[in-house]
Amino acid sequence: MRLLLVEDEKRLSEALEYILKKNKYSVDTAYDGEAGEDMAKTGIYDLIILDRMLPKKEGVEILRNVRSQGINTPVLFLTARDTIENKVEGLDAGADDYLIKPFSNEELLARVRALSRRQGEILLNKCLHAGNIALDTAHCKVTCGENNTVKLTLKECQLLELLIKNKGQVITKEQILDRIWGFDIDADYNNVEIFIHYLRKKLDHGAANVRINTVRGIGYCLEEGKNV
Ligand code: CA
Repeated sequence: MRLLLVEDEKRLSEALEYILKKNKYSVDTAYDGEAGEDMAKTGIYDLIILDRMLPKKEGVEILRNVRSQGINTPVLFLTARDTIENKVEGLDAGADDYLIKPFSNEELLARVRALSRRQGEILLNKCLHAGNIALDTAHCKVTCGENNTVKLTLKECQLLELLIKNKGQVITKEQILDRIWGFDIDADYNNVEIFIHYLRKKLDHGAANVRINTVRGIGYCLEEGKNV
């Protein structure tokens, strides 16, 4: 579980990060609205904990912008104000749940667990199709044709998911790095090339009738049809 925490109060942010990490969540932090929005828009998180009052950009605006880009990451909204209008505004903007400050650690962890469970159930039913392949993202495996199943690593699975969702369109190496490696600054285009290579081998091995075309100098494009 990879969480994004957007909270400008440094001491609160550090306390929350500590509690979440202690409970085995991996946590990235942002301290202002602009940085938070940029990170949220990568779509790499399983859950976003978003404060309402932030410098540079408010939580509600971030939420609207993130949702308008089609990113459905569950969002837990933190608010110090507890009027009905404020709750409704947050939920209208696309929050999945909210917590009113101050809250206890137990309360926070319970909400995080509930939202990740819900997300897990959505993922569980998710199967993506292209050509004769069906990608099961919950179990990181791809079935080619009737019953030829190939196991994928998590990164291969995320990469194939990205390609299938953008079938017929060119995805740049930069977009792939952003979406799959996120803020891992050690990753570069070599990583992308290596994983594309692995993925092609596995798809060939499984007799898939989709191919990953190289668009020289730009990136890749998934298309239906056999490799030639
Ligand atoms: Ca704040």
